[in-house]
Amino acid sequence: MTESWYSDERTIAENIRELRERIAAAAAESGRDAGEVRLMAVTKTVPAGRVNLALRAGADLLGENRVQECCEKYQNYACNANVIHFIGHLQTNKIRDIIDKVGMIESVDSVHLAAALQKECEKRRERLDILLQVNIGAEETKSGLLPEELFPAWEQIAAECPLLRVRGLMTIPPRAEGDFWLRKTQELYLKMKETAPKSAEPGALDTLSMGMSGDYEAAVRCGSTQVRIGRGIFGERR
Ligand SMILES: *Cc1c(COP(=O)(O)O)cnc(C)c1O
Repeated sequence: MTESWYSDERTIAENIRELRERIAAAAAESGRDAGEVRLMAVTKTVPAGRVNLALRAGADLLGENRVQECCEKYQNYACNANVIHFIGHLQTNKIRDIIDKVGMIESVDSVHLAAALQKECEKRRERLDILLQVNIGAEETKSGLLPEELFPAWEQIAAECPLLRVRGLMTIPPRAEGDFWLRKTQELYLKMKETAPKSAEPGALDTLSMGMSGDYEAAVRCGSTQVRIGRGIFGERR
């Protein structure tokens, strides 16, 4: 037991070291500094003890998909709430359970959800950092704003949800298309920087959350500032 724990710790640390190296190489290839890219450990199905090994090995952030799983585990995480980001589909009736346990909601996929978050923030007299999730490939199986919905939604959120600070974009692109969808997402993110709504907070855009175990190097070459890695850190999910 003890022995396998130590070897698990070594494996996780080794995985993170290799991810950092590859991220640095991909960043360098595109003329970027590796310091611009944050490494998120995606924790779904992974017990808190193993998640803490990833924190100890230097993961910058934790990514939570499920409200209930996060509520069960977060007290055992060796980090504060700012480090935990919510990245799964969020139902409005779960907002109250999750909002005080995370530093950012990356998966805002509708104006309706944003309005509900704004309401909760008003009650709590707090601001909240969010990303808009874009369904860049317009896939029926994925949530997220469609590319053509993004700017109208952002405009409405900026005007009607003053306690939400839109920090950027999150996406889960279609697979096996080379970097086509990653480039498309980068274009949208750059367009957001150029054409922010008047009521949006100037300079708040600093996050492009893009890239998972299978495509993080390509994502970094396409401007990602935050990669979300599950299997590449913890191994295949059970
Ligand atoms: C599971 C998940 C990831 C990580 O996927 P891996 O392939 O295990 O790296 C990243 N982002 C989201 C939104 C996820 O649900």
